[in-house]
Amino acid sequence: MIARLTVIGVGLIGGSLARALRAAGTVDQIVGCGRSVANLERARELGVIDRYAQDPAQAVQGADLVFIAVPLGAMRDTFAAIKGRLRDDAVVTDGGSVKGSVVTDAQAIFGDVPTHLVPGHPIAGTEHSGVEASFPTLYRDRCVILTPLPATDSEALDRVTRMWRSCGAQVTTMDVAHHDQILAATSHLPHMLAFGLVDALARLRENDEIFRYAAGGFRDFTRIASSDPIMWRDICIANREQLGKMLRQFGDEMLDLAATIRRGDGDHLLEIFQRAKDARDRYVDGTRQS
Ligand code: NAP
Repeated sequence: MIARLTVIGVGLIGGSLARALRAAGTVDQIVGCGRSVANLERARELGVIDRYAQDPAQAVQGADLVFIAVPLGAMRDTFAAIKGRLRDDAVVTDGGSVKGSVVTDAQAIFGDVPTHLVPGHPIAGTEHSGVEASFPTLYRDRCVILTPLPATDSEALDRVTRMWRSCGAQVTTMDVAHHDQILAATSHLPHMLAFGLVDALARLRENDEIFRYAAGGFRDFTRIASSDPIMWRDICIANREQLGKMLRQFGDEMLDLAATIRRGDGDHLLEIFQRAKDARDRYVDGTRQS
């Protein structure tokens, strides 16, 4: 049971956690924090939070659990704002999409990463933002990756694990660097392909016609290009090394594919498409990741 949860960043991810814990009956009081009073007022009206404070230092007062769900570029300032303001036994966790940068930000502000800070990442989401987009079942049957450090307090890890499980999520732990490598491939690269494709087509002279005749496949493939640009700018910068590697590797694959098409090599195309179809049928359909 969480007596007082503070959610810093009451958007899709933070709002959905608040709603899920509320629905599960595992939280007593929820305090929201953010820059915009309009979003926080709306969160209160919707019953997502009980009250709010715009100042993170004030918002975390008396909280036994703090969840940080701001864009990655705002993490360091958030740590700085709550430093020295937390209860001694407060557990802090976050939902940032890259973990190496969160650990670096924590080190920059606290010196050592606090033992009660448990970095985490829910592998769930949509292309929508803000508290209005949040919903209580976002994490049900989804995976949450926690990336504790060797010094992380085991009770803090246990509390965060139980918090996510009470939302219906499956919790796994992973090394920070491994998380960032895997997510560069499964989430960050696909978002780059969607943003890159839509931007390239939008800049073609015939763009009106292209978008008018775009069918279901185009909509499916490009849905995630409607995601928040600031959030994705921050993810790219935070995971630039791993994402850069994936983009280079994928670029080479695309050049090979283009050469195969130019040669009219039907056998090789069939081989590539069959291998891709088998892999998707085997892995992706079963996991429902965003
Ligand atoms: P969101 O819906 O835009 O919510 C972000 C919240 O943070 C907003 O309530 C915003 O409120 C606040 N915020 C924004 N900029 C801030 C700043 N500079 N300082 C303080 N607060 C700020 O975004 P989200 O989708 O929930 O993403 C939040 C975090 O979850 C990100 O770190 C993202 O990487 C991670 N994540 C996202 C997804 C996804 O699919 N969306 C999935 C997994 C993890 P104000 O504007 O009022 O401050």
